[in-house]
Amino acid sequence: MLSKRVDLHVHTSESDSSVSPRGVVKLAKEAGLSAIAITDHDTILGFEEAADAGMEFGVEVIPGIEFSTRYNGMVHILGYCIDTTNAELLQALDDIIKDRDTRNKKIVDQMRADGIDISYDEMMDRFGLVIGRPHFAQILVENGMAESVKDAFNRLVGKNMRYWAPRTTVPIERCIELILNAGGVPFIAHPFEYGYDKEKLVTLVHHCLSHGAKGIEVRHPSHTKQQMEHLERLISESPYDVLMSGGSDFHGDVKPNNLLGIPEVPYEWLEKIKAASKNY
Ligand code: AMP
Ligand code: ZN
Ligand code: FE
Ligand code: FE
Repeated sequence: MLSKRVDLHVHTSESDSSVSPRGVVKLAKEAGLSAIAITDHDTILGFEEAADAGMEFGVEVIPGIEFSTRYNGMVHILGYCIDTTNAELLQALDDIIKDRDTRNKKIVDQMRADGIDISYDEMMDRFGLVIGRPHFAQILVENGMAESVKDAFNRLVGKNMRYWAPRTTVPIERCIELILNAGGVPFIAHPFEYGYDKEKLVTLVHHCLSHGAKGIEVRHPSHTKQQMEHLERLISESPYDVLMSGGSDFHGDVKPNNLLGIPEVPYEWLEKIKAASKNY
């Protein structure tokens, strides 16, 4: 019998994926996955619908989140098995949305000044509460001003570019604390995606672990096979109790190369994460 597999990094349309929470659970069933973690950027709003669909399709759905945190620029922190009713967490997420709104309205004003016919209300109707630069990139593609989302990031919505404005990001230590306080299990997301050299990577890992992070996302489509094998070996041989996770970073059509369930992740990794959570 095939061993049980999971995908612990999945986005929904509540952040910047093209697929609804129910839709992604259905896809997980079709892909033969036993469990998925919903890890939307800075929101837990997709969990309830996904959990209902999990009952419907017989897929275990883990409540998670992916914070965009402030650390030498931007580092992502994943939180698994969080209590999605935790008041402190919900307040912090509300503050992040308000700050995004302020930033996003500046970007809309700049686009309108350049003759692009959009309104923020329309964007919220279409994209939901958590609106980010990937959505602006999509609008630029639809208006023929960029060839692709990537092209939009390279020329128009990247840092300091024409359709960019700063937002206040939450410090990495605070995001780890919020996840812990919600009974969850904090992980460093895709460590090889930040372009760090070995020394900076080691510093990041030590910093996060010393502030309460419990694991590292080892398997991710942005990691090479060599990087994944090397990191897995380092963690297995280390005297510390560092957990491992992995997933596809599925975004539907927004990142068409990220396929649900790839790279493969064994169910045993999720069992260890659940054991480290206060909510299971
Ligand atoms: P925001 O948090 O709204 O400023 O948007 C940042 C998000 O944009 C990141 O979390 C990424 O998911 C996405 N992003 C950043 N750079 C790129 C890129 N070059 N191509 C596609 N998406 C990107
Ligand atoms: Zn995303
Ligand atoms: Fe990420
Ligand atoms: Fe992600």
